[in-house]
Order: sequence, then C-alpha cells, then structure tokens
Amino acid sequence: MPRIPVKLVTWDEIVEWSWGLAEKIMDDGYIPDVIIAIARGGYVPARLLCDFLGVENLLSIQSQHWTEAAKKDERALIKFEYHINLSGYKALLVDDIIDTGESVILARDFIKKYWSPKELRTATLQWISPVAKIKPDYYYLEVKEWIWFQYPWTRLEDVTQFIKRIIETEFKNNARVQWNEKELEEAFYEWYGITVDKKYITKAINMLIRKGILRSENGILRYVTQ
Ligand code: AMP
Repeated sequence: MPRIPVKLVTWDEIVEWSWGLAEKIMDDGYIPDVIIAIARGGYVPARLLCDFLGVENLLSIQSQHWTEAAKKDERALIKFEYHINLSGYKALLVDDIIDTGESVILARDFIKKYWSPKELRTATLQWISPVAKIKPDYYYLEVKEWIWFQYPWTRLEDVTQFIKRIIETEFKNNARVQWNEKELEEAFYEWYGITVDKKYITKAINMLIRKGILRSENGILRYVTQ
C-alpha cells in the first residue's frame, strides 16, 4: 500500500478530460468571450478549452495555495496583482482541480471585484467534492476520495518533492543519510505506488543536488543535514 495515494495522469487523459469539460460547457450554452487561467495548474486545461470552445482571448491570474505537492500552504494569495477592465465580457475561470477550493474562490472574488466582468463562471477538470468549499459551475470528474493527481505538467516538480520527503522522513525516523539511485527509485514506488519514467528520478536527484539537499560522492547520495 502506498503511503500517499497518488494517481499518475497522462497527457492523453488531460486532452480527453478537457474535451469532456468543453462539451459540458457547450451543452449548457455558455459561450465565454475570455478564458482566465489560474496559474499555474489551469494553464494547460485553459489553453485546450480555448481550442475546443473556439475562444481567442486568454488571460491569467496567479492564485497560489499549494506550494509543495500534496502539502498545502496555510492560505491562498494572489501573486502579481493587476487590474483590468472586463466589463462587457463573459468570462470563464479555469483551473485543473478544486481541492479545498480556496484558490478558485480567491481568484473568482478578486476578478469580480477588480476586473468587473459581465459574467464569471468557473470550470475545472476535477472537483474533490467531500473537501471542497465550492462546487465549480462546470467540472468533468467528481473525485469522492482524496488523492493527489500527478499531472504531467508538474512531473519533475512532484517527483523532486516526493523524493525529498522520503529522504527527510528516513533521516528523521532512522537517521539515514546515505542512498543510491536505485534505492530511491524503489522507495519512491513503495511510498507513492506510481511508476514514472526513470529519467524523472535521475533529473529529480540532480535537482536536489543543485539545491544542496543531496551531495553525490562516487555514486553514493548523501543527505546534507547541515
Ligand atoms: P485548492 O486551492 O486547494 O483547491 O488547490 C489549489 C491548486 O493546488 C490546484 O489548482 C492544483 O494545482 C493543486 N492541487 C490541490 N490539490 C491537488 C490534488 N489533490 N492533486 C493535484 N493537484 C492539486
């Protein structure tokens, strides 16, 4: 049993889910003049929705909540605030998933207050219904049990953070400081239950070395504990 429930999401699934979401929006007769992507998770779905719904105008707002995979920050905040006039525009605010819902709530309220669109609706590929504080106007999949979705656009970031968490926990519980790549690969599978292309494990280890969290000595990886 993995320690953290994770589902690896493929690019093909993203395209399929975005089609499904676009169809729900079309069936409802909502034709947005502008799509607003929540950075960073909403970028790919928003771009695909522009394509599938035939929308030319694409904007972005950065509403950030989860700074590390499967580990949330205390509260969401709008980064790089700017004000524009969207009066007369029907807008669609898009994100990948609603988990707590705080990022979408914050972006939605900010846009309504400072950008004044004629209408604003929300759309996400997924909606974790038992924990979410809001239900989006449109979603493709309802998730009934919390799980971390490892989206293809955060593969390296997530793998890096997941490996870092293994190393930190093993140090805390067993004072372990020494690893090799194969051991990390095995621990990764044991912890998260997903198999990623091996190059992500290698690149994640390189990233941790660059960040000074690991040191490589003749194929041995040492946790730098300070
Ligand atoms: P939230 O404000 O809790 O609804 O989540 C904000 C953002 O964090 C989402 O748009 C995702 O990019 C990311 N996120 C939160 N929960 C998950 C999850 N269970 N799986 C994958 N990404 C998530």
